[in-house]
Amino acid sequence: MPTDNQRVARLLYELGALTERVDDRARRFRASAYRRAADAVANLDDDVLALSPEELTALPGVGAGTAARIDEIRRTGTIARLDELRALDPGGAEELLRVPGLGPRTVARLRDALGVRDIAGLHAALDAERVRTVRGLGPVTEQRLREALQQLDLDRAAPRLPIANAVQAATRLTRIARRLDGVVAAQWAGDLGRMSDTVDGIDLVASAAAPRHVLRAAAGMPSVREAVDHEGSRITLRTFDGPILRLTVVRPEHLGAAAVHATGSERHWAQLQHIASQRSLRLVADGLYRDDGTLVATPDDRTLYAAVGLPPVPAEQRDGTDELTLALAGRLPRCAEVDDLRGDLHDHTDWSGDGRMTLRELLDGAVARGWEYIAITDHAEDLRINGLDRHAMRAQRDVIATLRMEYDTLAVLHGAELNIAADGTVDYDADFLAGYEWTVASVHSEFNLDVAAQTRRVVTAIRNPAVRAIGHLTGRRIGRRPGIRLDIDAVLDACRNTGTALEVNCHLDRLDAPADILREAALRGVLVVISTDAHRVGELANHRWGVRLARRGRVPRDLVANTWPAERFLDWARSQR
Ligand SMILES: [Zn+2]
Ligand SMILES: [Zn+2]
Repeated sequence: MPTDNQRVARLLYELGALTERVDDRARRFRASAYRRAADAVANLDDDVLALSPEELTALPGVGAGTAARIDEIRRTGTIARLDELRALDPGGAEELLRVPGLGPRTVARLRDALGVRDIAGLHAALDAERVRTVRGLGPVTEQRLREALQQLDLDRAAPRLPIANAVQAATRLTRIARRLDGVVAAQWAGDLGRMSDTVDGIDLVASAAAPRHVLRAAAGMPSVREAVDHEGSRITLRTFDGPILRLTVVRPEHLGAAAVHATGSERHWAQLQHIASQRSLRLVADGLYRDDGTLVATPDDRTLYAAVGLPPVPAEQRDGTDELTLALAGRLPRCAEVDDLRGDLHDHTDWSGDGRMTLRELLDGAVARGWEYIAITDHAEDLRINGLDRHAMRAQRDVIATLRMEYDTLAVLHGAELNIAADGTVDYDADFLAGYEWTVASVHSEFNLDVAAQTRRVVTAIRNPAVRAIGHLTGRRIGRRPGIRLDIDAVLDACRNTGTALEVNCHLDRLDAPADILREAALRGVLVVISTDAHRVGELANHRWGVRLARRGRVPRDLVANTWPAERFLDWARSQR
């Protein structure tokens, strides 16, 4: 990468991070515009400062505004706005900004008035009832913040990053790491590799013929603020966006061992070392060795497991419980891959208030992905803001009937996302509901009922003959809202007894039902559907996250109803009661 590009991309990444952190939240779109532009500059082979304004705006993600910033860098060497934002940056405020109800202004006030800079400081200020002394805040705010911290379990010194944020950052960092001189491959590891709900940093493992050279260059990556630590093959870096990046770089023949070491939980790794030792092999972080000290090449995860006599253990399952016992016995479940999916059963169009794609765009997207069936599930009438009344639903049904003639390779099911009321009832009446070919029912309100009431509510919906699947079971928003409290045994028993499927919602901020519930569901033989709950075309690609979540939940492929061929799936959907 030309050094000017590195410098320009760096400034734009920092501008993006500070815009998001310090500017009003309404300007978030601008923050992502700066980041997209930084990505483009970081991926550019030509010298960015030599480009004309027209050439600049022709780059992907670079608009007139960003082009002007780049021109400013060319003329002055910096961006004036960036210097202003640096002065306003509360510093270390990333974790505070993740607390619901805390915006940049309040964070700045807390810092100026009370010296609060992190979650621990906020706890102390709340305990001393000092937040109420800050202008514009009061006892009500204090109580709200206390509840937010308690609900989100934010009492650790360093709160964990929700996976949705981590994936965004990791995608960008991986792309940049792959462009470092000499890098052959780079993959996710750690919490991200295991598909945890939250992560304590971003772990990447890369291979290169000259690892040391790459590690030195990594500290200069444009999205990196500073190096924090460097030990052996691993360097720890702080990014402008906040998360810590731990980058391990090894020679290609060590990649498998290094990746499994960086991904598996400590217990998984310790158990694996034990299995290796029984085969007279020595497994250490940097590689697998025979008795005589010679290296067993492990160019990827798969070859490492094979070398110690095991089938590959998916990254999502390396939690150190009983996965290696199952692997040794050949009893790891065969989980669904993205290519196994044949349809999507939860999709919104612009007929719903919150949908951002037309019916046609959705159907074209489904065809482009090679799907055999799709359910249109716009919100139903009980969701007042977004839902469709009977009249609109009938009209949509007619439109779909016409579109079916054009889309003859795709089975289009007319469905709805029903809303589960506090008493467990759903929209419409039995007669109207009977007109749907597919329904998913979900909780969208009253998240605070007690366990008994919440369980009664959801079980009533599961038993409703018109309901085929339960959408985003717990209603959680990772890092923002805890899930509803449920007696999981009762819920899963009801699903099994009625044949109602459990949805794996692919949105990264939902990942719902969570993996531990899916694991229980799989043991009971509960059917699952992996659905994107897409509201816009781009989200149709989110299947990959649901597939990974289902793998973490050890759901066998055959329990995933949307891996079934169209005929089997449609027969099942029709035959439900
Ligand atoms: Zn929903
Ligand atoms: Zn939905």
